[in-house]
Amino acid sequence: MKKYQMYIDGKFVDAASGKWFDSYYPFTGKVWAQVAQGDAQDADRAVEAAHRALTQGPWSQLTASQRGLLMHKLGDLVARDARRLAEIEVQDNGKLIAEMQGQLNYIPQWYYYFGGLADKIEGAVIPLDKKGYFNFTRHEPVGVVVAITAWNSPLLLLAYKLAPALAAGCTVVVKPSEFTSASTLEFVKLVEEAGFPPGVVNVVTGFGKEVGPALTGHPKVAKVSFTGSDATGRAINEAAAKTLKRVTMELGGKSPNVVFADANIDDAINGAVSGIFAAAGQTCIAGSRLLLQESVHDQFVERLTALAKTARMGDPMSMQTQIGPIATQPQYQKVLGYIDIAKKEGAALAMGGSAAAGGECGEGWFVQPTVFTGVKNSMRIAQEEVFGPVLSVIKFKDEEEALAIANDVRFGLGAGVWTSDIGRAFRMSERLQAGTVWVNTYRAVSYMSPFGGYKDSGFGKENGIAAIREYLQLKSVWINTGAATANPFVMR
Ligand code: NDP
Repeated sequence: MKKYQMYIDGKFVDAASGKWFDSYYPFTGKVWAQVAQGDAQDADRAVEAAHRALTQGPWSQLTASQRGLLMHKLGDLVARDARRLAEIEVQDNGKLIAEMQGQLNYIPQWYYYFGGLADKIEGAVIPLDKKGYFNFTRHEPVGVVVAITAWNSPLLLLAYKLAPALAAGCTVVVKPSEFTSASTLEFVKLVEEAGFPPGVVNVVTGFGKEVGPALTGHPKVAKVSFTGSDATGRAINEAAAKTLKRVTMELGGKSPNVVFADANIDDAINGAVSGIFAAAGQTCIAGSRLLLQESVHDQFVERLTALAKTARMGDPMSMQTQIGPIATQPQYQKVLGYIDIAKKEGAALAMGGSAAAGGECGEGWFVQPTVFTGVKNSMRIAQEEVFGPVLSVIKFKDEEEALAIANDVRFGLGAGVWTSDIGRAFRMSERLQAGTVWVNTYRAVSYMSPFGGYKDSGFGKENGIAAIREYLQLKSVWINTGAATANPFVMR
């Protein structure tokens, strides 16, 4: 049995309590590793180490270019070990090797891009309205950052946070999900190999409810960057508010994928299927509400379900598998619970609708790809995030009605539009209330393009140049170049 220690101040260590917890492989439902079960003491040790590294250690003496070079090296090491890390992610969260290998191959770009950005963050000279003063601005690291990640894409979500935070000069304490800690602990070995000084990146593992509050309420933490559910996001916001921390919130979604009759229907079907069934629907940007224009509704559903039925479920390590298991047992129960809710609400089951067992699915936590039609937007199945392979299909008449339905939800993470009318593409992209709008595509992300939610899907941006600003604070410096000291009781 593999055992994973935490990583604090440049050392792999046991939890202060000496406790361990189990990590399960979703394909078999069996324990495959044990992870150190941290608590408030470990959280405190990690924050203290990060604070020392920020204020006293060699990290604070590095130039921005030197930080960038370290990050570049880290990117190279991730590229070197991409396959190994991808396999560990599959063990942890059961996602397909094809998807995790793709993610791991792409992750180095975050470290290259933000490493390159590190020495291009320039302040400004302000053309003051006062004589005898020189005024300029500096962008400084915000301080110790706590990065909390969800289980669905641990190392990708970590790259969204860690790359801009390191480029900004911050130090970081990472808290991965209790369900998927192993890949982060393997990754941090590469941080060490790249030559980052001790304390710059620390990893505290354990249960969110125990370790989390000790991190998000710690007085020496300046910022919390969180990816997870909106319920946990609210709790973290409250904890962070007590010590006035900055927060970035990447939360859940209930994203509309809107298909107009004038769309290329073949492309739209592929987009709808990948929007909800890729990663077994366990993505924050899942296109879980499919809005279909009346005239194409019936044929679209027929063709979509026919395609979805061909999806091969089974071993996530096989390149032939198209839908893998649900990552955790609680999540598996939650998805099945939502299927029951939808049935009780009166949605019509067009395909799927239960657990999948036996055959290639073995003992794993599999749910059949499921499609409900006749869904009303007021139903819970249309309003609440399922985070599984469950699609709600809703009919609309025209553009106005599509917009009204699409926006009538408390989330606003992503939205898709399928149309061949360029004017409509622009109108919809302007009026959809979502942090990302895809036109004639879905689920595309890049380290260069800002990503983040509207409404209850959160605030703050990851990716793109905007992301580094989340980890910087702006200082204004005034230098007297000859202004006379005048009446001390009059403001200058
Ligand atoms: P959770 O909110 O349950 O957990 C997220 C992280 O928060 C985990 O590391 C968890 O630890 C930790 N945590 C739990 N309680 C606390 C607490 N009180 N204080 C601090 N940390 C805590 O989300 P899931 O892991 O279930 O992830 C799924 C959710 O993440 C979905 O809603 C999904 O939409 C969202 N998500 C959003 C993305 C985005 O970019 N907008 C991207 C990916 C996912 P532990 O696991 O140990 O409990």
